[in-house]
Amino acid sequence: MQRRELFSSLASSVSGKKKQEILLRPPYFGDESLFHNECNKCDGACATVCEEEIIKIADDRTPYLNFSYSGCTYCDECAIACKPNVLRVEDKKMIASIVTIDKKSCLSWDHTLCFSCKDPCLDNAIDFKAMFMPVINDKCTACGFCISRCPTNAISVKAIQ
Ligand code: SF4
Ligand code: SF4
Ligand code: SF4
Repeated sequence: MQRRELFSSLASSVSGKKKQEILLRPPYFGDESLFHNECNKCDGACATVCEEEIIKIADDRTPYLNFSYSGCTYCDECAIACKPNVLRVEDKKMIASIVTIDKKSCLSWDHTLCFSCKDPCLDNAIDFKAMFMPVINDKCTACGFCISRCPTNAISVKAIQ
């Protein structure tokens, strides 16, 4: 392999790794490595019991949350169903993510009256400043219920580690 080809192949492998998506996990795990050690031996019990049907199983057979249609009620059922203890009720925590409203896509920020995200937010975590400027406050539990209700897909959730 030519020197230049070698560098470009190394560079693309590094950027490929950087781009690797962090999956949004159910809010009951202590150690991310357990997903990779245990879930490939499991039939996805956590996804089967989730009444909101937000747990999906990724290609690597680990579970992740998908808020396209609903959100997490923090009901504990997925953790109770996880017999290998990858998810444990004792490890319950907030979904590790940041939820944001994109002002450019949001109807309200464009001066069109819309409160679609406010109603499903039982935690009162969306402040409408001066009626037209919704901002997510620190009461947000990252439950995801507001996401599918936005008519312009202006709300996004980003998993963090
Ligand atoms: S039930 Fe537990 S072991 Fe099975 S896929 Fe879900 S997290 Fe993994
Ligand atoms: S806590 Fe309940 S609603 Fe949330 S992912 Fe687990 S089973 Fe689903
Ligand atoms: S993700 Fe945050 S802002 Fe959206 S409904 Fe849940 S608590 Fe409210």
